[in-house]
Amino acid sequence: MTQATEQLKKRLSTIGNIQRAAALLEWDMQTYMPQGGAAARAEQLATLSEISHDMFASQETVRLLEQAEQSASSLDPSSEEARLVQRARRDYDHTARIPTELQSDIARHSALAQDVWQRARAANDFPTFAPYLEKSFDLARQVADNLGYTTEPYDALLDMFEEDAKAAEIAIMFADLKPHLVELTKAIVKSPRKGQDAPIPGPFPIEAQNAVTKKIVASLGYDFNRGSQDQAPHPFCSGFSRNDVRITTRFNRDYLNMALYASLHEAGHAMYEQGLPEEYDNTPLGHAASMGAHESQSRLWENLVGRSRQFAEYVLPTLKEAFPSQMGNVTPDQFYRSANCVQPSFIRVEADEVTYNLHVLLRFELERDVLSGNLKVADLPEAWNAKMQEYLGVTPAAHSEGVMQDVHWAAGLIGYFPTYSLGNLLSAQLWNSIRKVNPDLDEQLRRGEFAPLLGWLREKIHSRARLLKPDALIREATGESLNAKYYVDYLKFKYTALYEL
Ligand code: ZN
Repeated sequence: MTQATEQLKKRLSTIGNIQRAAALLEWDMQTYMPQGGAAARAEQLATLSEISHDMFASQETVRLLEQAEQSASSLDPSSEEARLVQRARRDYDHTARIPTELQSDIARHSALAQDVWQRARAANDFPTFAPYLEKSFDLARQVADNLGYTTEPYDALLDMFEEDAKAAEIAIMFADLKPHLVELTKAIVKSPRKGQDAPIPGPFPIEAQNAVTKKIVASLGYDFNRGSQDQAPHPFCSGFSRNDVRITTRFNRDYLNMALYASLHEAGHAMYEQGLPEEYDNTPLGHAASMGAHESQSRLWENLVGRSRQFAEYVLPTLKEAFPSQMGNVTPDQFYRSANCVQPSFIRVEADEVTYNLHVLLRFELERDVLSGNLKVADLPEAWNAKMQEYLGVTPAAHSEGVMQDVHWAAGLIGYFPTYSLGNLLSAQLWNSIRKVNPDLDEQLRRGEFAPLLGWLREKIHSRARLLKPDALIREATGESLNAKYYVDYLKFKYTALYEL
């Protein structure tokens, strides 16, 4: 690295430390902070956000950035150093376009709105939450206006999570996907096999659920020396360095799969973060390529691995050991079916693989409409319920299992939802590529040998960190751009057999 780039890196790592400290406060806010701490925590996060924003957008940072650009201009643009400087430029431009006051408003509002959301959701009280939601969209619109866009404000927000993605392309992707999903769901609901996918009856004591899910994610390759598992109302993964990446999960005494699949999902995210190269830690390269790439990892471990027939065989003895009386007579086939129950339902995070993307489509359309001014926040609950009926044939009886179920809008993550579907599609595309080079994959999963799979992901995705833009990463790993065909084929193959369609 040239001296100019070293100096830029040093400056950015100082800013990174402030952002990581803020991330730890957010992790605490969602795990251990007593409810009374909400207002002060919002101020702490706003202050840290202001400090890091001012440092990033400062004359000093831009001076170092320009020096580094100067010295990198003679380098191969695909070299590590040139890419680091390119990523720093993108981050700087984003930061500098957002006024400090807006940035700290967002940090403060997001903390307060999450607190209100949590209580309003529990009380099924949309009117109390509505002004906060209004403000979330208002702030998002201001962000989009400051970042700039050519077609619609949604593009500016989406680009923060998925570089170069466009709302119009996402809409086309969903238009291709939707008829397959609707048709498959309809066929499954009518299948005579439908009655055999019920959950395994509990109860499952929480302590034992916690212990067994930790054991299982550790066996996949999640490193607890550099991680931990705690509880949160809306499970998430948060990293403060590649050597401290924490997951959260949630428990239901009567439904083991809630915790199991939340843990698998979050461990998928966490293994990506733990697999980022040490030398990129706390630099502009030391991140995932995009949120879609991130979701591809969580969904791959949760679904392609965790909901496979092979995994059912592998994991059942471990579950029987933890819950001998509840699981004693359960067969792998029964467990496999219970983990893949396709059923139009209200809650996205608990949705099966077939209906899941319809939940995302609904959110994408609604937030796009609110942002463009075609839908008022006050009318969101009604619009939500109408789309649920149209896409899934069900209408939530309460807002808590409808428009208020997700934390994202309260947390300011508007434009984020499509990355879940991008991740789903990519997970199946990656799986297809892995199988080509590792024909023994199924047998390995049955035996609980996850190292070859993790090794492939480490090489193709994790170690590539943020060197490439999302599309280039996908092409490098799979030989082509994102292609929905693999996901559709995967679903049709799996569920045709499972439900004897
Ligand atoms: Zn996720």
